Amino acid sequence: MTTAEAVLLSMGYRVFRETFDLVAVRKLEDGKRFHTRIEAHGAPAIPRGAEVDVHIDYMHERSHNHGSLAEGGSIAIEMESLLDFLAVAKPSRGKPGFIACPTCGKEMASALFETHRKMSHR
Ligand SMILES: [Zn+2]
Ligand SMILES: [Zn+2]
Repeated sequence: MTTAEAVLLSMGYRVFRETFDLVAVRKLEDGKRFHTRIEAHGAPAIPRGAEVDVHIDYMHERSHNHGSLAEGGSIAIEMESLLDFLAVAKPSRGKPGFIACPTCGKEMASALFETHRKMSHR
């Protein structure tokens, strides 16, 4: 598991690894979801300046296509916290799926990282 995957998991995403991109979706209310795509070129670390796309999908039950929204306040906030996480998170040495907190050095399962940051370092 890569750092970016761990970060996305800690934010509540389901993560899919594609050949060149890391793709992740996070369900929202009312049939909407965040759809995030990070251009990683298959590398374990996200390259500097990698393209990150965050948008909201609107799911339609009867259609294969989905409408999407690329701009908006909630997207900006999601993008900001994603980039913030990617900048600070470090993978744990030797423990796959764990993240070392950049603030206190404590290692924890990626799913607990967001809560830890909110509780311990607000
Ligand atoms: Zn989409
Ligand atoms: Zn910490």
